Amino acid sequence: MGMKSLVIDGSQGEGGGQVLRSSLALSIVTGTPFRIVDIRAGRKKPGLMRQHLTSVRAARDVCKAEVRGDAIGSTEVTFSPGKIQAGDYRFSIGTAGSTTLVFQTVLPALMLADGPSTLALEGGTHNPFAPPFDFLIKTFLPLLEKMGPVVRATLKCPGFYPAGGGQFTVQIEPTATLNTVEMISRGEVTRRAATATVANLPREIAEREIKVVRRKLGWPDDCLQVREVRDTPGPGNIVTLEVETPELCEVFTGFGERGRAAEAVATQAVQQCQRYLKCGAPVGEYLADQILLPMAIAGPGAFHTVGLSRHTSTHIELVKTFLGCQIKTEDMGRDGAIVRIA
Ligand code: ATP
Repeated sequence: MGMKSLVIDGSQGEGGGQVLRSSLALSIVTGTPFRIVDIRAGRKKPGLMRQHLTSVRAARDVCKAEVRGDAIGSTEVTFSPGKIQAGDYRFSIGTAGSTTLVFQTVLPALMLADGPSTLALEGGTHNPFAPPFDFLIKTFLPLLEKMGPVVRATLKCPGFYPAGGGQFTVQIEPTATLNTVEMISRGEVTRRAATATVANLPREIAEREIKVVRRKLGWPDDCLQVREVRDTPGPGNIVTLEVETPELCEVFTGFGERGRAAEAVATQAVQQCQRYLKCGAPVGEYLADQILLPMAIAGPGAFHTVGLSRHTSTHIELVKTFLGCQIKTEDMGRDGAIVRIA
């Protein structure tokens, strides 16, 4: 309370939804009020869409914040956080917008609350340009749990873009302080798995995708599987590649969409995976921009990533603004980059 308010330029760097969501998350955990202008100025349809609006309201609910500007299309939001409230929450996006992104907005607050919380999130669970549920539970949350909290997510029903209709629930046991993290070396690969999932679509699509994975990655048959899903409103198709090493499990995803050949979907995942295997860094490009925030809240730490995306550079600047910490990056070209938080 009485904290100096920040003005955040929503058009900075990547200029997308992440600038807004991370500002909300950081505002709550630091108790810093802020005003964000030019929200999502870098996008075709700027301002708040359903997913972002749900994130703003979810952030408000978990800390009884005072909010202005929370309307669809709004390009300016003022947010004054209150005390974090552990509790039982339900956040429904109302469209196929990404539930995992809404979840990541409130998770930093609730994992530091003074009691356990439960969440139910409704909308999309497997959206292009967002962390798919599988990435959340296999990559992101296990790393977060190493930092102290217990965070268990359960998929009740998948929701694929554009139909949505998915749901997952989460139980959070908070921690008083977060352990710091270092992820510099990767170690040997201990497990590999490829899953091609089709929802209300012919099995043959997934079989074609698995063929591409077998041919391009040379993984043996006992690492490859087809999964058919029916308990979801729309059609859906994704290819998920898992690579496990001693410190973490990375997940690479290809997203199916109308008019996109199965082979292209598989190749999208395969190319990310090949880049990762070649580089030797433990942290993939997407994980880098997502793990930065909890790591920086925890304190000093470092990680080696396959590369710095615009999302990551944008996120670094935002985290520095809210936390006042120092973050240095060392770009090593094809060998990736080191990010150090001091
Ligand atoms: P917009 O920018 O249009 O507002 P948005 O709200 O979905 O969109 P972005 O700012 O683009 O948000 O952030 C997307 C987030 O999703 C990033 O943190 C990125 O790391 C993550 N992400 C995207 N694709 C994947 C993927 N395949 N696996 C894991 N994470 C992903």
